[in-house]
Amino acid sequence: MSRHDSLYFADGTLTLQDLDGTLFNVYRHHFIAKSGFFSGMLTLPSPDQPTPIQNASNGISDSTAVPLPPNFTTVEYEKFLNFIFNVGSLDIPLVTDLCAILKTSHFFAAESGVQYAVHYLQAHANFPAALRFRMGCDYSIVSWVKAAFDDLVAVPVIDMTVEDEALLGTQAFRALVLTQAKVTDHRMSLAVCPPLPTHATWCRNPAYCQTQWESAWTSIAGPLGWLIKEELSGAEIHNKLDLWVPMAMTGECRLLTCSRLKEDLKREEVIIDSAVTALIRLVVV
Ligand SMILES: [Zn+2]
Repeated sequence: MSRHDSLYFADGTLTLQDLDGTLFNVYRHHFIAKSGFFSGMLTLPSPDQPTPIQNASNGISDSTAVPLPPNFTTVEYEKFLNFIFNVGSLDIPLVTDLCAILKTSHFFAAESGVQYAVHYLQAHANFPAALRFRMGCDYSIVSWVKAAFDDLVAVPVIDMTVEDEALLGTQAFRALVLTQAKVTDHRMSLAVCPPLPTHATWCRNPAYCQTQWESAWTSIAGPLGWLIKEELSGAEIHNKLDLWVPMAMTGECRLLTCSRLKEDLKREEVIIDSAVTALIRLVVV
């Protein structure tokens, strides 16, 4: 046991105080073991080198509590400490609780908290895209940024809330609006000017093939409806084409033509990928 241990922490507890004055009594050893931040902070300073640690070496009573950084709310500190000390139910935590654990654990270098929050957040059914985007940016989780941007491209700007806009920030919101405009322009161009059919070498009646293709294109359950009416994503249309056999055109011609259409649809993914790649360079910490 070090001098520091015996002198200041004989009872093995530590009192922390947040900006609002709320006091948290914790078990010191367990707390230090879980947090790299506090492990370093609560190391005994050299007597001739006063540092903030000297404040931290108090904390044995309410009157000398260790001040916590002002970065977090009392509720966020509660969630963090509940996680560190395994307090709480076994149910899957709420998104807000997990975000609090991620924010605090990241700040205090509590790796187990970061891993726990990331694990449950990325599988959480109620993790909104705009919040996923923000958390991905703030904590360098690129896969979250990409997935959230993909989801948000499909959401009309008019349906976004003020909170969504705030979470996205000006740069991301602008990138999103521009990307939506480019995707819409591409889809409209494709809808009104579909690819011509590609014929197999043994196609006996290319004119008939083309008539069938054009008829299928504008049918109720055809690519035009998927693009304009149902507004399916390029990936969704891609999957539908694999199961689409509505045309009387030559089988090989249909396969070749659908393959060409799939290539055209990939342009939509290229637009989105290009936008999010450029955005990540600007907004991910
Ligand atoms: Zn043909």
